[in-house]
Amino acid sequence: MKYAKVFHNLDDIMSRTKKQKRIPGDSCIRCGTCCLKGGPILHHEDKKIILAGHIGHQNLVTIRKGELAYNPVNEKLEPVARELIKVRGKGKDWTCCFYDDKESACKIYKYRFLECRLLKCWDTSEFISIIGKNTIIRADIINFNDPILKVIETHEKECPYNMVKNLIFILSEGKDKTENFAKLTELVRKDLTIRSYAISELGLQEAFELFIFGRPLFEVLSTHGLSVRIPPDSLPKRYSTEPEPL
Ligand code: SF4
Repeated sequence: MKYAKVFHNLDDIMSRTKKQKRIPGDSCIRCGTCCLKGGPILHHEDKKIILAGHIGHQNLVTIRKGELAYNPVNEKLEPVARELIKVRGKGKDWTCCFYDDKESACKIYKYRFLECRLLKCWDTSEFISIIGKNTIIRADIINFNDPILKVIETHEKECPYNMVKNLIFILSEGKDKTENFAKLTELVRKDLTIRSYAISELGLQEAFELFIFGRPLFEVLSTHGLSVRIPPDSLPKRYSTEPEPL
């Protein structure tokens, strides 16, 4: 899976629709382009959908603060300024997990999220007006007394993206390669250790891992072309096989 496509690439959506000569007038023609480009980011208006149990946490992925993501406003790949919650893709693809390819339809249409309701490819003004505003973080949809919050805090402290970003920068400059690569490897190890601790000791279901901790650091690094060698016995089995689409 490539870098997080946090927000829809609006130009891409509009140009693809035009190329297909399926230019809508003022209504959705269910071409599916917006859903194929990735699921929505959740806003406070969406909390009720999760809290009512219409959609589960296993369908979400956290984009951690500092993680690189595509910003459609300035069309740049940049670190996200604030933690974001996004609907997961299918396996290693960012196509929204709720998109039904055969039917060209949303499986949760009745409960679709704010961004899905506002994204109209023939007029993106409403959608653009909410980008990055009033978005939620993990703590907004986790019980305040759940012990996993403490583990999330530890994870953020031990494996922060600002440290990852600094190390990638230093490595790109070719400085102290061995020492800095060892530091990066240590962050990857800590990331995996904390995840495994939550699963084996706190009973966290594996399906919730991407929501609780975001994508594993070694996977994110591989999108930067940085391959961190992990001893086979340190890599949990769940990463050795391709995840099933949700
Ligand atoms: S939730 Fe439904 S409408 Fe929204 S991106 Fe996914 S498939 Fe499309």
